[in-house]
Amino acid sequence: MSGARLEIIERNCKGCSICVEFCPKNVLEMDVFLVTVPRPEDCIKCMQCELLCPDFAIKVHDE
Ligand code: SF4
Ligand code: SF4
Repeated sequence: MSGARLEIIERNCKGCSICVEFCPKNVLEMDVFLVTVPRPEDCIKCMQCELLCPDFAIKVHDE
């Protein structure tokens, strides 16, 4: 089974787009200054977004 629930802690997201740039599966997109998750079904749970976010604003839930 693929896909994950990606939690965005909106008050923490600074819109830096690091997570978008490093996601290997193009799961994430920027909506101006906030990251969005248009393709959660493509997430392979590599954790890069959560590990690289400087503001702890994105979490990958394994479910
Ligand atoms: S890396 Fe973090 S702060 Fe930057 S856009 Fe992604 S969720 Fe927001
Ligand atoms: S866990 Fe990996 S594949 Fe999933 S959204 Fe984050 S960077 Fe992309």
